[in-house]
Amino acid sequence: MRLRYWTAIVVIVIVAAVGVAMRKDAPVDAPRLPMDTASEDLQKHDTAWLADDDLLPPPPETAMPEGEAPPVPPDSDVMWSRAIEQGESLNVLLAEAGLEPVDRATVAGAIASAFDLRRLQPGHRLTVGKTSAGTLEHAVLEVEDGVRIQAIFGAEPSVLSIPPELESVRLAGEASIGSSIYAALDAAGIPTRFATDLELVLAGSVDLRRVLSGGEHLRLLWRENRLDSRVIGEPTIDFAEIDLGGERYEILWPDDDAVRTKIYKDGSLLLRFDQPIKGARLSSPFGMRKHPIHGSTRMHRGLDFAAELGTPVQATQSGRIAFMGRRLGYGLMVEIEHADDMRTLYAHLSAVNEALEVGQRIGKGEEIGRVGSTGTSTAPHLHYEVLVNDRPVPPLTDERLSRLSGGAAAQSADPDVIVTARDALERLLQTQEVGAQGSRY
Ligand SMILES: [Zn+2]
Repeated sequence: MRLRYWTAIVVIVIVAAVGVAMRKDAPVDAPRLPMDTASEDLQKHDTAWLADDDLLPPPPETAMPEGEAPPVPPDSDVMWSRAIEQGESLNVLLAEAGLEPVDRATVAGAIASAFDLRRLQPGHRLTVGKTSAGTLEHAVLEVEDGVRIQAIFGAEPSVLSIPPELESVRLAGEASIGSSIYAALDAAGIPTRFATDLELVLAGSVDLRRVLSGGEHLRLLWRENRLDSRVIGEPTIDFAEIDLGGERYEILWPDDDAVRTKIYKDGSLLLRFDQPIKGARLSSPFGMRKHPIHGSTRMHRGLDFAAELGTPVQATQSGRIAFMGRRLGYGLMVEIEHADDMRTLYAHLSAVNEALEVGQRIGKGEEIGRVGSTGTSTAPHLHYEVLVNDRPVPPLTDERLSRLSGGAAAQSADPDVIVTARDALERLLQTQEVGAQGSRY
């Protein structure tokens, strides 16, 4: 499932031959890129999104259809390849590859549309393919973490940032809690970032800082992506069992295909929560907190989810679009009205779904926009609020919203998931040498 994530973030840019490749502002102007005939589908997809004019949009990107392989560069007659050394520019290598200035500019422009050339480092490898007559056919820049920037020229030009084929590895670990969950994870060689995941998801249900007396037990299931034997990116937690001596909590996080977090207490479902972004992790809880920008302690009216710029955001419940546009602090946002005087609000977006308009009905799970950093925001994330009679309620623990979609039936849905997670945890803990995960984070 991890691999599908990587497929989804494969970015493709169809470049109109020399035109766009030569334009210095190509990355900035991205969402309005002229598309060639080879990209009709992409064009439809792209124009369905309204770019936020005040925000510098991300590099031109469109998710490749799931399961589709990126185009393979032609088997060129003349191949040139070398790793970049200290102090060298891309242009130096392109000249050494025997390219004329116009071709050098074409390659540099194409690569720059998918990769920030200021990030060029020694060790990155450039490969150039030409015909025996010297016509430029393709260029590939291999950057860190196995990512390849691939530019193909000729009849169907394309520039792609191709993530590596990663191996998704599932791991399990257990720890006895002494003074803190963080210290326990650290001592057991389990990624310590999971302490934050646990605290955020249990906020409102259990105050971990208060209930811990030492001797509590914790068991976790998580995944990491590897390229050869290196860990790439952040590990993600899937399932946790926490025994607080008398009370046992189990938490199931949503994976890349799911949006529902579930918390069980002593085996029965305590709460379930539909989140607006698939697989995303909570990064800030509801309630009083120190404001990241203003520094003062303020009420945080919603939940924050960490996600990359451009990640799709979906409606957590069906309703009617009440507002779409900019609001001070919130930036570009969408507000949906639901039954029983409930509303949900999605803020700091980079784009809203242009197919939607105010007053229109929207279904649960429908895309409403893309993650951004508009308004008062320091980095791309989604701010999500649930309001009841105009007052914000804690989205994670307030069940009113999820009750709107036939509570009991939804509650009994997919009971197997927790059983599967328990089995996987048990099996992995038995087969895997405890503490042998090796890598510390
Ligand atoms: Zn927020």
